[in-house]
Amino acid sequence: MAFDIASFVQDSNTKRIMIAEAPVGTGKSLGSLIPTLVEADIKEKKIVYATATINLQSQLMNSEVPLLKHLQLVKKPILAKGKTHYYCHKRLLSNKDKFTAKEIDILNKFYSKSITGHKNDLEDQNSFFPEEKWKYVQLEASHSECRYCELSSICPSFEHRKKFRSSENDLVITNHDQYIVSVLNSMEHNGKQPIVPVNPGILIIDEAHHFIENFLGQIEESFTIKQLSALRRHVIKQKEFEKTVNKIESIIKKERINIGESLQGRYQIPVELIQEITRVKSIIVESVDKYQSQAQFNKYHKLHAIEMLDEWSFVLARFFDDKYVKWIEYDNLKLSAISNTFPSDFRAMMDYIKTRNKIIVMSGTLTSDGNFSAMIAQWRLNRDEVLTTSYKTPFNYNKQALIYVPKPIKHPNTDSFIPSILKHIKNVLHITRGSTLILCTSKEQMNILWGELQSTFDEIGINRFLQGKSGVEKLTKQFLDDEKSVLLGSGSFFSGFSIPGNSLISVILSKLPFPVKDDPFLELIGQGYEEDFFDYIIYPQMINKLNQAAGRLIRSIDDYGIFTVTDPRIFTEEYGLKIQEVFRNQGYVITQSVEKVKQFINYKTLSRNQPEYSKYSRELILVDDSLAKDISKPQKGKSLQSVTRISEPKKKKGVPKAQREFTKMICNREGIPIIKASETRKMYEELIKSLYYNWHDTTVVEENFPFRNQKEKDDLKNIKGSERKKVMPFCSKWNCKGDCTAKEAIAEYLEDKYDTKEIRFLKKDTYCRVFIEPTRILENEEFRP
Ligand code: SF4
Repeated sequence: MAFDIASFVQDSNTKRIMIAEAPVGTGKSLGSLIPTLVEADIKEKKIVYATATINLQSQLMNSEVPLLKHLQLVKKPILAKGKTHYYCHKRLLSNKDKFTAKEIDILNKFYSKSITGHKNDLEDQNSFFPEEKWKYVQLEASHSECRYCELSSICPSFEHRKKFRSSENDLVITNHDQYIVSVLNSMEHNGKQPIVPVNPGILIIDEAHHFIENFLGQIEESFTIKQLSALRRHVIKQKEFEKTVNKIESIIKKERINIGESLQGRYQIPVELIQEITRVKSIIVESVDKYQSQAQFNKYHKLHAIEMLDEWSFVLARFFDDKYVKWIEYDNLKLSAISNTFPSDFRAMMDYIKTRNKIIVMSGTLTSDGNFSAMIAQWRLNRDEVLTTSYKTPFNYNKQALIYVPKPIKHPNTDSFIPSILKHIKNVLHITRGSTLILCTSKEQMNILWGELQSTFDEIGINRFLQGKSGVEKLTKQFLDDEKSVLLGSGSFFSGFSIPGNSLISVILSKLPFPVKDDPFLELIGQGYEEDFFDYIIYPQMINKLNQAAGRLIRSIDDYGIFTVTDPRIFTEEYGLKIQEVFRNQGYVITQSVEKVKQFINYKTLSRNQPEYSKYSRELILVDDSLAKDISKPQKGKSLQSVTRISEPKKKKGVPKAQREFTKMICNREGIPIIKASETRKMYEELIKSLYYNWHDTTVVEENFPFRNQKEKDDLKNIKGSERKKVMPFCSKWNCKGDCTAKEAIAEYLEDKYDTKEIRFLKKDTYCRVFIEPTRILENEEFRP
């Protein structure tokens, strides 16, 4: 795999997109990172590695990156997690009523001490901090909004997130969402900054089976019923509004009962619900008209209400517009709409990315029945513009795993389905005595099973964890540490969840993970394939998710275990034969006998018998001709140059000793952190910038730096500092005692002397930090650090 990717990224003339299906165990993270980092180093490119799950991001940072650092392939990697993983102090200030005094104290201390504002740091230092309250302090503001936040100059989250775009990062590990938003910001020139680099040169999209859905998540217009209901206090005709929202809630309740426990997914919006939304919209429009015509409309709060209601009427209008496809998700009570130009919008984004980057699209599950047609069709790509490749699993599933489809089980669309699967799940739990991940296809189903299985957990005496009780990373760690526990999850645990070893020897999937039959979004991306809709859209979605679920079980050559699917359709439906074939082709054995399951587990746990794997042999590795030729026999030509550069030691740019010693002396003398760099330009630039930032004189460096020669001096002479350190002063600067009695006098003094536009006092411990606008005032001598 690594050689294929090396060949793809080195060749600058051919295809820009490589799609690689690499099952668990093929080592796709290192297989893609090693060749791309080598290429990035040669061609001075960077790498953005985008994943769908937080688990995979952490795994990359904690396992692969240390090895890459050790090999000196990466110098400045950064983990750019999604914003909900960062703390926002501004939100605490407006949500204080949600916390106890002790919790507020914890958060205040965290805010003043944390370097990154990252949720993990809070969890590590305060294991008892309640997970369910994180939502009140998680970052919601966009990067641009943070820039204008009065706390930004002392906010650890903002400071840390600013580094995501630093040109020094050679590897940025992020999620699909942040990368997509960054691309959209760049494409739309909407004045918003990208959050992570958009054009690093090489983009790796891992867990690519989620990418199109994540694009959808970024551009859909949506609202929840809870948000709609909260509008009540802003509209006229409040009683009528409330009545309509109640009606909406009762329609939804009725529908939820009809659907049963499999609520997850996108559903058509019932006509009667659309009628009620029409009513809501007309109340909103009436309210806007009325506020605008009122004499006092220019009062701030009304203006704010007008803007907000106007925005709502704009969003609601989408639900009556034929150019939009809309749906409802019953599990989180969310309504969404998307332009029917979605397929071409997605394609436009891919075009934008591919003109500036080589793209490696990969996942363990991208093909359906062995070919990429369905994926290529859904992404609206042309077959001749992509390079596709599929790798075989390195595991011996025949010896390491067993697929168990118990019987009898009722059809999943019947009320007796859950009771019929419970007995079998309990049996498996008794056989494995824990070490089990139970995957559900909806949260509703997950909660039912959670309740029903408590007595079994108690009987066996095992610990249990439920998705949502803690963050995904924390749950993963708890599950890993407790070898005999059980974890119940849905969505997030289907992919990116990796537990090698004895903590996971059993995965139970409650039901085949089919999408909703008439999912409006799938109908949209399936346009043009209506006749083969099941084969091109529905079945591939299901089989990919099923493969992801199975892929949680065997994570290394030492692993073994049972994959139980409590769904009879594998043996009763026509497509069930195809499913059996998919698994048998991978080497799995499928059984319906619980006795075989017992024998398998007993045999494996008692004998520790493991299949034998052939030893590593260089001869067995398939190497593309362009790469193999060059190493064995140097020839002229493009490939030769690239390989020669890989195998030869890189030309040393280095920094002469005299320059290093001069820089160190200046840093020590001026009291700034010691600057180290691998090149003269970088070292000189850092030194000038650092001195300027800290209000020190830079001429001493400009005149005395031991340049190698005149040319180097001329090259570097234009480097100047650009930003000065500005520090918002504490009120104690003007002898305030911390009792806030001097506020007025301080404000008066600042207004008189500097003509300040705004002054705010923000309490931090005993004293207040004084925020002064405009900030250029802080360049006056009085405020210099
Ligand atoms: S800068 Fe952003 S994260 Fe920090 S307090 Fe302000 S809004 Fe919150």
